[in-house]
Amino acid sequence: MSERKVRVRFAPSPTGALHIGGVRTALYNYLFARQHGGELIFRIEDTDSNRFVPGAEEYILESFKWLGIPFDEGVSFGGEYGPYRQSERKEIYKEYVDLLLSKGKAYIAFDTPEELEAKRAEIANFQYDATTRDSMCNSLTLPAEEVKRRMDAGDTYVVRFKIEPGEDVHVQDIIRGEVVINSSILDDKVLYKSADGLPTYHLANIVDDHLMLVSHVIRGEEWLPSAPLHVLLYRAFGWEDTMPAFAHLPLLLKPDGNGKLSKRDGDRLGFPVFPLEWHDPKTGDVSSGYRESGYLPEAVLNFLALLGWNPGNDQEVMSMDELVQLFNLHRCSKSGAKFDYEKGKWFNHEYIVRTDNTTLAGLLLPTLKENGVEAPMATIEKVVGLMKERVNFVKELWEVSKFFFVAPTAYDEKTVKKRWKEESPAQMLALADFLEGLTDFSPAYQEEQVMAWIAQHEYHMGNVMNAFRLTLVGEGKGPHIFDITDVLGKEETIARIRRAVTALS
Ligand code: GLU
Repeated sequence: MSERKVRVRFAPSPTGALHIGGVRTALYNYLFARQHGGELIFRIEDTDSNRFVPGAEEYILESFKWLGIPFDEGVSFGGEYGPYRQSERKEIYKEYVDLLLSKGKAYIAFDTPEELEAKRAEIANFQYDATTRDSMCNSLTLPAEEVKRRMDAGDTYVVRFKIEPGEDVHVQDIIRGEVVINSSILDDKVLYKSADGLPTYHLANIVDDHLMLVSHVIRGEEWLPSAPLHVLLYRAFGWEDTMPAFAHLPLLLKPDGNGKLSKRDGDRLGFPVFPLEWHDPKTGDVSSGYRESGYLPEAVLNFLALLGWNPGNDQEVMSMDELVQLFNLHRCSKSGAKFDYEKGKWFNHEYIVRTDNTTLAGLLLPTLKENGVEAPMATIEKVVGLMKERVNFVKELWEVSKFFFVAPTAYDEKTVKKRWKEESPAQMLALADFLEGLTDFSPAYQEEQVMAWIAQHEYHMGNVMNAFRLTLVGEGKGPHIFDITDVLGKEETIARIRRAVTALS
């Protein structure tokens, strides 16, 4: 068993946008697969046609492309174990349903929805199981010829799993340890419906994990209640020896209060819960995405990696390679992880700061274009280098640095009141003249010269520098003044000083 090749899968149902919790599940599967030199499969579990949403599969694929999580095989990736879309595997499932029927591990049930409804009304907490199946309309209670006759006549039926009561079912979970549940509390789950010829999630999931040689099932905690049933199914098929190991990941919790993170929390508190913007084809609603909100995919993945796992020390910013090395399923927590959205912003900031200026300049370029700004790449790179420490998102770069590209046309009133002194116009004109005479405009030389000039004239240093800044920026903020003049260049610096003097006199 220990030599078994690691093969894991991410198996979403295409029922809408991919939730951020699903992204975390896929990420953990990916980290685990890469760490063990294994394979990651992308399977689409679309056997519930009622819940199918057009566009969802494409959306999920595009999300992982953006995030940079590659799959080794599966829908759109190919592989030897396909097809990987469950709706295309009908015949395969039918074969395994028949196998269970022939082994007496499953049976056919004809009960109509109305009959089931009537039972529920009659018996409190009705459950289709060993205590009730004898009073229902199925192949265990009807004569064989009658069953055959009804099937031949085309009566709709379902196939139910025949669960033997009174047995402790043990689930070994890498994260939760041993989970024991008595089979008497389980109901005879529907495995197959003749109406559409499709299996239910449980059967398709187990058959596929078996046929696709899945070694580890790493999935969200919401699937833990299904695990005992899955163990029983493996056993019914006689596949105990190749049953995958289970690891049920902790829930993502609301940033505030208790309970599971929902889309409504995102709407209420103003953060995305989907990787990409999602246009709901049914309601027309548009939900925000991490990509469109200005997140770097590496930042999103790093943030998610730490929701439910940690490397055992304080290290927070980790590259994908480091995550692959350090990730450990045994170190995942059992208890839910609070979705600390502010931390997500912090990660984005850290990744922006670590992103090279050329890449950032490239990301800012479209915004510059939108605003009619044309500037040499070298200048844009210098600007982002100066300003990146100040932002959490690329799109904020424009706001904080537009003064580099567009000269002020107005001057912030408050700053003018405070910083523009009586002597400022004369001092600024003299400064402009002085700068004009400088043959070397490098920041260090300029600074040294301007400081000496201020000292020589016995000007008030703060007053001069504050007024100088106001002329260049239009307000009292911005980076080191000689970094600004360095980007603007001599001509533009002097022009801005003179223009401000005219405007403010
Ligand atoms: N189709 C299930 C989902 O949508 C997969 C659960 C599992 O991984 O077994 O999450």
